[in-house]
Amino acid sequence: MTLTTYPSRRIPEQLLTQFARKTPRIIMESLPPEQGIYLPKIVSKPVKKGHGFKFGIFAGIHGDEEGGVLAAKQIIRWASEKPEELGDYELHVFPVCNPTGRLLGTRHNHNGLDLNREFWYGSLEPEVIYLEGELRREKYDGIIALHSDTDSDGCYGFVSGALLSEHLLKPALEAASEHLPSNRLPLIDGFLASEGIIKEGYLGILSAPPEQTVKPLEIVFETPGLAPLAQQADAAVAAVKTILAEYRLLQAYAPNL
Ligand SMILES: [Zn+2]
Repeated sequence: MTLTTYPSRRIPEQLLTQFARKTPRIIMESLPPEQGIYLPKIVSKPVKKGHGFKFGIFAGIHGDEEGGVLAAKQIIRWASEKPEELGDYELHVFPVCNPTGRLLGTRHNHNGLDLNREFWYGSLEPEVIYLEGELRREKYDGIIALHSDTDSDGCYGFVSGALLSEHLLKPALEAASEHLPSNRLPLIDGFLASEGIIKEGYLGILSAPPEQTVKPLEIVFETPGLAPLAQQADAAVAAVKTILAEYRLLQAYAPNL
């Protein structure tokens, strides 16, 4: 199936019919009815009940970045088909965070706002209100946001802290480079960068609630927006899988980072 030709309302239905009925581990947890905006959330429960690392994966908050949406769909398929590889993870995938922008093919939502600058400022946009509620309620251990950047020739990412940069984003970029190279420029998107890693970021992006006491891992992963969509998706999926694997290792010897 080709995702790009779907009206966004149909994606979760496809996912449900393909995976959810066959695999009870994959569930559609919520369909917020606010103002008719349909923002899907697909939950993959851990194989063994009990504690698992709970990660939120968010794609398509910019409506014209289809690579991340495709990657999110592949991650849902992976969770469905190879649950043993996920093991102790509980994944919450939000494949289309800006459904109206996606329908219009625009970065901004239908109100003309960049939703990824609206978080934790009392935004009245229903998508942001909903996602803020989810972030507050779920208290994720990790938040991965998938984006693409048409101004970049390669993959890069945002993360805070040297440890997480070295142990998570660096190997993620290495894994992604099997599909698309990293951006090696010293300045990316106006930020100082080193080997595709930026340690600062924008205000108002989708992130953990300010009051969350145990700060989660937060990574923004960007693919080059002009590269073929399938390659962008493969690169992002490789990065996400690597982040999950490396995070598990890191927790084993340095818990509660
Ligand atoms: Zn973006």
